[in-house]
Amino acid sequence: MQKPRRIRSGWPFGALVAAAVVLAAAAAWFLAGRLEGEQPSVALDAPAPLFIGAAAEIPFGLADAKSGLRRFTAVLILGGKETLLADTEFPASGLLGLTGVRQESVRVKVAPRELNLADGKGVLNVAVRDRSWRNWGRGNLTELRREVVVDTRPPAIEVMTQQNYINQGGAGVAVYRLSEECPVSGVRVGDRFYPGFGGRYADRSAHIAFFALGHDQPPGVPIVLEATDAAGNSARTRFPHAVRKKTFKKDRLTISDGFIQQILPGLQGQIPPQAGATLKEAFLYINRDMRRLNYEAIVAATRRPQPAMLWQGPFGRLPNAAPRAGFADHRTYLYDGKEIDQQFHLGVDLASLANAPVPAANAGVVAAAAFIGIYGETVILDHGLGVFSMYSHLSQITVKPGDRLAKDEVLGYTGTSGLAGGDHLHFGMLVHATFVDPVEWWDPHWIRDNITLKLEAVKSPPAGK
Ligand SMILES: [Zn+2]
Repeated sequence: MQKPRRIRSGWPFGALVAAAVVLAAAAAWFLAGRLEGEQPSVALDAPAPLFIGAAAEIPFGLADAKSGLRRFTAVLILGGKETLLADTEFPASGLLGLTGVRQESVRVKVAPRELNLADGKGVLNVAVRDRSWRNWGRGNLTELRREVVVDTRPPAIEVMTQQNYINQGGAGVAVYRLSEECPVSGVRVGDRFYPGFGGRYADRSAHIAFFALGHDQPPGVPIVLEATDAAGNSARTRFPHAVRKKTFKKDRLTISDGFIQQILPGLQGQIPPQAGATLKEAFLYINRDMRRLNYEAIVAATRRPQPAMLWQGPFGRLPNAAPRAGFADHRTYLYDGKEIDQQFHLGVDLASLANAPVPAANAGVVAAAAFIGIYGETVILDHGLGVFSMYSHLSQITVKPGDRLAKDEVLGYTGTSGLAGGDHLHFGMLVHATFVDPVEWWDPHWIRDNITLKLEAVKSPPAGK
């Protein structure tokens, strides 16, 4: 009788070995994964040093692609005192906690007063660990250290220009001192903000802001000086001023088919096909939509003013020219005897000989030299600190953007390009994005009383103070 054969208890030996190898490989793979040595990352998207105002929020971007995030801490060291600002544990989930948080945005709130922190310079230390089993289970560590300035006090603004008379539709200048460096300061007129510039005086705290009271803003609109420091603390102070109310001329313009046919060829390419089915519709598109788009293009050209005042004295007026239309004339447009539109004329029209040379009204840099719809061939000169002059309906432009022009240097020739009935120069003045009355800038008395004397009245303290 044969001994019964041993019952095979499982897989053949080879299979067992293979299984063991696979298991070992899996374990090794698992351990390698758990023991990964890739550090977590921490990003702080803020300039150095880091300014902390009265209520700050510091944004961190954390990531760990392999084992995931474990813990985030932020400690502020200031005046010999350590303050724990944040201590966050990130949950793990899944089998053996294998599913970690790969990416997270953390906003650390700091309220220095609640934390009894005095203003001053300090250091922020941030640490992030991941879920790796390295370092005896504590994970990979990434640290970030950033100099901080705690500043909870708003800047002080000292107005240096008293007795300011501002015409509705006119310009003004404010000279002021700031108690600390402020990335943003200037004059607010209602909802419009006019940034100021430092750098003219030896006293680095002294700033100049040109501003405007729009022709369309009420005389009682608040005018204040504003400053915001690097920590986000803001201050406002009243700007002493008196407004002279203006009455602007009213005009009624009859628009004939002949006139529309005359201006259409130069503008047709800029009218969407559906907007210009009839002559009247084409005119309305030009007068409303194109006017608005053109204004946006002009504003774009004024967005980065030269940071120094390039001009001096009164601005020049086109020589031997008769005025044809004034600033802020309110125009009602009639077609077939009916009112079809209303617009403001935001410059002065000057008629001289046809193709008369156009001199630069003052020294400046060419900010734009291009065809701008209703304004036709146009040059915009940047005179610095937010003051711009604009020359429109030219037949020819002889300068290009970036050119530096002296006062009276020829920049082009008058013409009829754009929305113009006859050869003339449409001359505009802007303070940042607001059109202002050019008449002020042509007037030597206005320039002296309202600008030159105010700028000169500020005496710089001796250097070093
Ligand atoms: Zn005009």
